[in-house]
This record gives sequence, structure tokens and C-alpha cells, in this order.
Amino acid sequence: MFQEKQYLQLPGPTAVPPQVLRALSQPMINHRGSEFKELFEEVTLGVQKTFKTQNTVLIFPAAGTGGLETAIVNFISPGEKVLVASIGVFGNRFAEIAAKFGVQVEKIEFEWGSAIDTAKITERLAADRDGEFKAVIVTHNETSTGVTNNLPAVRKAMGGHPALLMVDAVSSMGAVDLRTDEWGLDVVVTGAQKAFMLPPGLTFVSVSDRAWEVAKKCTNYKYYWDLASAKKYLEKGQTPYTPALPLLSGLRESLKLMHGEGLEQAFVRHSRMRDMIRAAMRALGLQLLAADEVASPAVTAVFTPPDIEANQLRKVISKKYNVVLAGGQQKLDNKIFRVGHLGWVQPLDIVATVAAIEMALMDCGYNLELGSGVRAAQQVLRG
Ligand code: PLP
Repeated sequence: MFQEKQYLQLPGPTAVPPQVLRALSQPMINHRGSEFKELFEEVTLGVQKTFKTQNTVLIFPAAGTGGLETAIVNFISPGEKVLVASIGVFGNRFAEIAAKFGVQVEKIEFEWGSAIDTAKITERLAADRDGEFKAVIVTHNETSTGVTNNLPAVRKAMGGHPALLMVDAVSSMGAVDLRTDEWGLDVVVTGAQKAFMLPPGLTFVSVSDRAWEVAKKCTNYKYYWDLASAKKYLEKGQTPYTPALPLLSGLRESLKLMHGEGLEQAFVRHSRMRDMIRAAMRALGLQLLAADEVASPAVTAVFTPPDIEANQLRKVISKKYNVVLAGGQQKLDNKIFRVGHLGWVQPLDIVATVAAIEMALMDCGYNLELGSGVRAAQQVLRG
């Protein structure tokens, strides 16, 4: 039987390129030997370059959520306060993790589909005269809604407040510009399975000098997640525990791809794909969750027409056309579908995805002119 190519258009895990797949099947090496040291130093430098930082970047075997947990347990002590600006599922998750570790969480929530109103951060921090907030926590790209927050605006909104700025960049890094040093981001967390084009299983965390000072006094519980210990080992070209060797070999290849294309070029490619999918969905008469000004270059959330269930549409598109889309999370379940367009994705993949969405919509009884979405996407691509 013909084995069709699957279009895995999720906002993670994303498709893995062949060079990376090959590297994943290398034989194991001694993780306390010179070959590993060379590999680990090379990938650490490559990840730092991706973060646009001179700060220490630590690499752990874990899902992105592990990276969020390390940001809490290394810098915030039980009883201390943090301000979380949440615009969706992943902002809420960061807040939940902090609360689990005994941190007092004040959450400012914004409507799902909109970005942070930074005036609210300014207002809240201005009232915090005693400097009780130890961190401001934000999600760069909210994957559940397809909205990107403006990080320089968040930093500016904090003014001279001494709180650390912590950023969940799991679905943005590599797809959306992020300048750790220039924007003064103290702790930045990302993961392997999105724009890094790797299988899931690695998290990357950068730590500013200011944050290391805070870490020295932090009393929260950690063993596996002790970043100071990881930093000590990094100085010897090692990790405290057995590293995920295949993923690190894969990372070496994915970094070559990322920096071979160039980060700025990759940002342009991702934004173009965003514009293609948005133009196509509008041409089909579908409603988008996010406004143009805050729309994510990595993932687009689309409402199905009122009489079509989003999960039914996803079932049809997957079964008949082998295109895999993500569903809505929590209160958006069955209302939206999400098209991931990050990582190893090119504009023609978006044309194919739009073609499949059109056919699946028709199969579900939606009245449309075949090719109208595809045409709109092609027009954006041609410029
Ligand atoms: N933060 C954001 C913005 C995400 O998109 C995700 C995963 O989709 C996570 C955190 C959690 O990552 P993981 O599922 O690898 O734990």
C-alpha cells in the first residue's frame, strides 16, 4: 500500500527533518568523555545563539513543562509573590506550577485571543511599593490561542521594578524573534519539539546574572532541577545526570539547519506562513481567534462555522486527507482548530493544508468555492 506523507500541522510536536532523524540513531558515547564534551559545548553555544544571549543556557532532558518548573523552584521561595499575566492555557499552567510550590500567585487574566495589556502590569507594579513581587511571568507565544505577546513592551511596563522577568518561550523560540539580552529577559524557557524540529524531550533554560544572584537565596525544593548544579557541570562540559544523548546529537543537526537558514530568515518564513493561512481562512469565510496585530507566526486558531464541530472537521481532515490539526483546549474545545506552522514547514505545506481544509469543510456540509482559500494563500506567497 502506498504510504502517504502525513502533514503533521500541530503546534508541537512538529515534523522532524531527515538529517535530524539520522542523527538520532547514532551509537551511544561516554557522557563523561571528550566526545560528549565537544558535542555538549557545541550545542550549548548554538542554543545560546538561538536565545540571542550571553547568559548561561542549561539543557535538560524533559518536556517544556519541566523547564517551567525549574524557573519557579530555582528563583522563587515558598511564600514569595509573583505576578503572572495569562492569556491562555500555558499562562495558567505557569501560575499553577508556582502555586504548587507554595508561591503566592497574583494572576492578571486577559481574554483568550488577546495579548497582554501591558498598562495593567505597570499599574500593578507601581502599587507594589515594597517590591513584594519577585517575578513577572509571561508566555511569549500562547499556543492555545495563537497570540504573541510583545516582550519589549512587557519589560518597559515593568519600569524600574526589581522583579525578574520570566518567559515561557516554548512555542516561540526559533519561530518568533526573541532577544534575551537586548530585552532584559531573566529566565527564558523553551523546548525541543517546536521550532527546534526535534522530537520532544529536551528543555532549554537561560538564566541572567541577576537571576543567579536570586537563586543563591532561593529556598524552594529541588534536586533534579538544581540549575546551579547543572551550571557547575556545564563548566566541565558535562551534565549532572545521564544526558539524553540521541536528542543532543539531533540538536546538533537541527541547530545547523536553523543557523544555516538564519534566524531572521526563519522569522520571515514563519510570518509568511501565518499570513497565508490567515488570508486563506478569511477567504473561506472563517473567523480567526486572534487579531492581526497579535497573531502568532507559529500557530493559528480558527473557529469552525457555527454548525460544524471543530473536532468532527479534524477527524475528517485526518482520516481522508492525512492532515493532522490540533483542537481547541479547555473552553475552546470543539470550537476552534489550530494549524501549527512552525519548525520544518514550508509555504507549500500551507497550500496543501488549506486545500485539505477546504475539502474537509465541504465534506462536513459547508458551502464554499473550492480553491478560494488556496488562491488567497498563493497570492500572499507570491507577494
Ligand atoms: N508552554 C507553551 C507555550 C507550550 O506551547 C507548551 C506545549 O505545547 C508548553 C509550555 C508545555 O510544553 P510540554 O508539553 O513540552 O511540557
